[in-house]
This record gives sequence, C-alpha cells and structure tokens, in this order.
Amino acid sequence: MTVMPAWVIDKYGNNDVLRFTNNARFPIIDYPNEVIVKVFAASLNPLDVSMRGGYGSATLALKRDPLNITQSGSEFPLILGRDVSGVVMECGLDVKYFRERDEVWAAIPPWKQGSLAEFVVLNANEISHKPKSMCHAEAASIPYVATTAWSALVNTGGLSKDNCANKRVLILGGSGGVGTFAIQLLKAWGAHVTVTCSHNAEQFVRGLGADHVVDYTAGPVEEPLSLLEKFDLVLDNIGGDTERWALGLLKPWTGAKYVTLVTPFLLNTDRLGIADGMLQTAATVATKMIKHLVKGVHYRWGFFAPSGPALDEIREMVDAGQIRAVLEETFSFSQVPQAFEKVEKGHARGKTVVKIS
Ligand code: NDP
Repeated sequence: MTVMPAWVIDKYGNNDVLRFTNNARFPIIDYPNEVIVKVFAASLNPLDVSMRGGYGSATLALKRDPLNITQSGSEFPLILGRDVSGVVMECGLDVKYFRERDEVWAAIPPWKQGSLAEFVVLNANEISHKPKSMCHAEAASIPYVATTAWSALVNTGGLSKDNCANKRVLILGGSGGVGTFAIQLLKAWGAHVTVTCSHNAEQFVRGLGADHVVDYTAGPVEEPLSLLEKFDLVLDNIGGDTERWALGLLKPWTGAKYVTLVTPFLLNTDRLGIADGMLQTAATVATKMIKHLVKGVHYRWGFFAPSGPALDEIREMVDAGQIRAVLEETFSFSQVPQAFEKVEKGHARGKTVVKIS
C-alpha cells in the first residue's frame, strides 16, 4: 500500500493525540467523480479542535459508514483539516471540468479525511479552480468559512448579489474566520453591515468594510444594538444567550431572518445517539421556528455545505479584488500542534493557515 506524510489522531483527546506519521494511507479514488489533490496549504477552524476532542463523532461515523461495513470498524487514524488549496494529481473517469495539474481549492466535508496530509481525495463538485490572484496559503484560508457563510447567508438567509443593496445585516462575532469573510461578501453585494466584536478588533473589522461596529466587551451588547434601525438579517456566530434578544432586532413581518451557526445538532447526537438526538434536534428547531414565526420573524439554523459552484462565484470576487484573504498566522507542516494551540486559545482575527508543501 502506498503511504504519505500526515498528521493523524488515533483517539479523541487534547493536543497530545496529534501524531505525525510518514505512513498514512494514500487516498484512492473510489468513485469515478472523485479527484486526488496534492495539498499545498490547509487551514484550521474551531471545528478541527472540537473534532479532535470527539465532537460530532456519532453523526460523522454514520456519514462515513452508513451500513457499518468498514473492516476497521473505526474512523481512526483520522486526518483533520477542512480547507485545501493544491493541485489535482489524478481524476476519476467521470470528471469533466478538472484536469491533472489544475490548481484548485475546496472545503472538505467533516466526514471525509482532511487536508493535514500530503494528499486528499474529494468529489469533483466539492472543488473549484483556485483564484489566480492568491497564493496557496491565502487560498486555503477561505473555503470552509466561505462556504459556511454562503450556506447561511444565501441558501438559508435568502441573500444574493441582486437583493442585498438596501439590506441591513448584523453579524454577531465579526472578527473570526466566518465573520471576516461574511463582512466582505455582504459589502461587495452592497448591504449595510453592522458587526459586534471586541474593542481591540474594531479597526480590523472596519478595514474589511464594516459600516457600524459595536463593542461587546463594553457591556450588554443588546442595549446599543436595540437603539439601531432594525435589521433584515442577523448572522449569529456566537450562540449562547444571543437568541434571547437577537430576534427582537429584526424588522417584523418583512421576511427578516435570524440565522445561527451555533446549533446543538451534533451535540445532541453525541449525547443521545443518532435517533434520539435527531428527534430532540427536530423538536427544538421546530418549537423555536414556530415561537418566532408568530412574532413575524424567521428563526433558522445554518450549516456548512461543501460547494464547488459557490467557490467558483467566490473566486470571481477574489480575482476582482472584492474579497481578500485574512491570514492571522501561518504555520509550517511540522508545527501543526502549535497551530491547534493557537486556534484553541480563541480570539481569532481571521484565519490560521498551515503550509503543507
Ligand atoms: P472563530 O474562532 O474564527 O471566530 C470567533 C470570533 O468571535 C473571534 O474573533 C472572537 O474574538 C469573537 N467573539 C467571541 N465572543 C464574542 C462575542 N460574545 N461577541 C462578538 N464576538 C465574539 O470562529 P469561526 O468564525 O470560524 O466560527 C464562528 C462560529 O460558527 C463558531 O462557533 C463555529 O463553531 C461556528 N460554525 C458553525 C458551522 C456550522 O456548520 N454550523 C460551520 C462553521 C463555523 P474575541 O474573543 O477576541 O472577541
């Protein structure tokens, strides 16, 4: 069996479970629409830290092996890393839009082996040609947060480049990976963007285009927010008690939406098992949707969705100079544990990238 270098985990835990190996299993093309990508750069997201500790393992195990037929009976050794920028090495027989040596970028679904490795296998509709104006490290900082923001704002929130012009959008938590991308996307589409962040991130988010910034460290953030004109959409990257007050900031009876990225879905299935966890999740979201619908606003959960076509549109915006990479810190392949430590500390100001080759 051919092998490759990778960072793997053999069990869930803290940073000690990360292990470098030169003998990780080389990915193979199982389906004719798959491609093998040589990874030049990856990036880390809070999800990688959570998955290292076992978050989502029940649902992700079911996605990986729905019929429970893998011989190993386990997801280990597991490779983390959800972003990739690299070069196509091999294409399955049905792959039409990509060729060997094409430079591509992608967000890798969490049930697949990740990009902290020399090679990764992806479905052709999950990848996209990389922006020409970016190096691999810059390109790797974008796909996962971009496809998450796209899924939340476009697919769930109903926003698009054609309907954003007079929309007022509030982003709760604008200084991290998702926030820094969402600000730029919405500004490029002409929306008015209000952002909450720490005091020391104010100039940073203004530099990305935020029109109005509210410091959440100065006191209860809902108070200054409630004095502002109401919003057409709230994107919540923070969760916790935000939904207690954030829906009251929306314009009622206008189709306005609150979309939160912080949902209990995977925690429920980890805690209760797949069937009960899903039932609990469905009951929770349905109750909340109805509770807010009668007040004239829409309550929604947003989820990451892999999408080559969304990345195609984002590439055009990047190459047109409308969206830039926001790299906070770049690590080498040998420094993956330090990169995890950085992300785990929180207080992100953009993205943490790992150069693989
Ligand atoms: P990051 O860690 O990159 O950014 C979080 C940012 O929020 C940091 O800049 C932090 O800075 C800031 N922050 C923390 N507390 C507050 C607060 N109370 N108000 C305003 N800002 C705050 O995370 P991501 O942007 O990558 O992800 C955001 C959230 O979305 C995470 O919870 C993540 O798990 C979730 N997510 C969910 C997905 C899904 O499929 N549902 C997919 C992707 C992400 P500071 O502490 O210095 O203020």
